[in-house]
Amino acid sequence: MIDQALDARISVAAQSLHRARRIVAFTGAGVSTESGIPDFRSPGGVWTRYQPVMYDDFVRSEQARRQYWAMRRELYPVIAAARPNGAHLALARLEQIGRLDAVITQNIDGLHQLAGNTEDRVIELHGTNRYAVCLGCQEEYPMASIQVLLEAGEAVPTCNGCGGAIKAATVSFGQQMPKREMEEAIRRACACDAMICIGSSLIVYPAADLPALAKRAGALLIIVNRDPTGLDDWADHVLRGQAGEILPLLVERTALS
Ligand code: NAD
Repeated sequence: MIDQALDARISVAAQSLHRARRIVAFTGAGVSTESGIPDFRSPGGVWTRYQPVMYDDFVRSEQARRQYWAMRRELYPVIAAARPNGAHLALARLEQIGRLDAVITQNIDGLHQLAGNTEDRVIELHGTNRYAVCLGCQEEYPMASIQVLLEAGEAVPTCNGCGGAIKAATVSFGQQMPKREMEEAIRRACACDAMICIGSSLIVYPAADLPALAKRAGALLIIVNRDPTGLDDWADHVLRGQAGEILPLLVERTALS
């Protein structure tokens, strides 16, 4: 529910966006909770029931790969069933009306593309769960086909071609951030005239540096989040609440302004 005070703050934020033509959205797990994918810290979510597997452990240990794929097997149906919510759809609308430069996302769920943002405007900093990749020969496998193997009892899928270890095309803890995507994200953050951060606690580095970069380069900074974030004091507007409710209003009022 949007109360009157928040509604008024959304209108003020929309007015300040009226001249922005290169808006960058920076999204985290909170943009997808209303689609049924729990964020990192919500109790009971699939992420909280498994110890994250470090990249080096995945490469070295069969036991770690078993643990990794047991978690992925549970995660896949949650992501496969998820549909874009009002926040994703509002960002697709922002692109349609020619005001969105890019969506930089920490998410791996592919919901921005499903909502209608064009592939080359979505920069996935933490990779994607839509496919898996062989660490030996880089062969790619749709995650749906890997899920069939897991459900048939295969604990650790391996590459058909070279026998190498297969891993989701996501960035694990201890794994290098993708160079091309990071460079592109920094370039877009420095060139935007407004950045809207949605559903991120803004404490996971290096990705959380991007809003600070944008702000230092002169961009307007708007934060839409349920809880306080690490950068609230820096922001021009902080809209606290559900992204799926706030974003459609913010985008509609921006389109009219
Ligand atoms: P985070 O869990 O640290 O923070 C999520 C933030 O979203 C919280 O501050 C919370 O208050 C807010 N939030 C939750 N629901 C919201 C809603 N409906 N509306 C507005 N705000 C809401 O997430 P993070 O900063 O993205 O970092 C966690 C990492 O975990 C990410 O980098 C990502 O790779 C990974 N992850 C991805 C997914 C996904 O792809 N959907 C889900 C969980 C975790």
